[in-house]
Amino acid sequence: MLIIKDIYNLQTYLNAYKDKGHSIGYIPTMGALHEGHGSLIEKSNNDNQKTIISIFINEKQFNDNQDFEAYPRNKGDDYNFCENNKVDIIFEPSTQEIYPKEYKSIQNSYFQNILCDQYRPGHFDGVVTVLNRLFSIIESDKVYFGEKDFQQLKIVENLINENFPNLKLVPVPTVRSNEGIALSSRNRKFSKTQMADFISFQKEVIQFISHLDKKIDLIEANKKAEEFIKSYEKFDYFEFRNASNLSLEGKLADSRLFYAIYKSGVRLIDNLEL
Ligand code: AMP
Repeated sequence: MLIIKDIYNLQTYLNAYKDKGHSIGYIPTMGALHEGHGSLIEKSNNDNQKTIISIFINEKQFNDNQDFEAYPRNKGDDYNFCENNKVDIIFEPSTQEIYPKEYKSIQNSYFQNILCDQYRPGHFDGVVTVLNRLFSIIESDKVYFGEKDFQQLKIVENLINENFPNLKLVPVPTVRSNEGIALSSRNRKFSKTQMADFISFQKEVIQFISHLDKKIDLIEANKKAEEFIKSYEKFDYFEFRNASNLSLEGKLADSRLFYAIYKSGVRLIDNLEL
């Protein structure tokens, strides 16, 4: 496994792979890797001869500097994780490498003013800016994204359709703990008690969903969702949205439940299939 920090070296290796006719799968991450990332790596390894993962904590997508500073970082563990999961290249660039002085940010124009875009202004501008850069540097055949970040996945789908016609997007289902919690780098912040608390919240949510009639429309379903969440300590959103276009229209059966809640100061997002 190679650990590469600069674009020049990275492209030298990637070009050698391409010259040999190897297909390349790419997984963008912010590190603090877990089995959720592992499932993206596994999928890429099954589909391609070579798998490259980037580890880059993209400051531009943090609308809150404290959140950026507090984001979990654990290089040694990530290297071991990638080695054990048969990654070929880790690309771990510096901020200067990704954003040279003249580099201009781009603005996201998809799925605006809803869900995370409403509550984290500028977040998706940062996401599309870094992905635009990384996709252009790496020019892989396929790129792997988790359904865990569903709005991001839909935005990336549009970004790729518009700007990267040769790149194939592969969505990967959310990996969960036995209790139903979506694995996330941010879960590491929790003590055992906080985690137990989160698990019981998740169980209540799963139970709430399971008791709903799937034939009702989203307006009615969202009244029930509002009722369910209204006494919760702190949340940004908790609502059903159409899984194909993220609108509030259609039947419950065609939707997902999207939430962003705060637990002990940590912001957690998830989306659950019906
Ligand atoms: P991150 O490092 O959190 O930016 O995530 C990098 C990629 O891993 C994104 O495409 C995420 O959607 C995906 N991912 C994160 N957690 C999970 C999970 N529990 N299951 C599947 N994919 C995940």
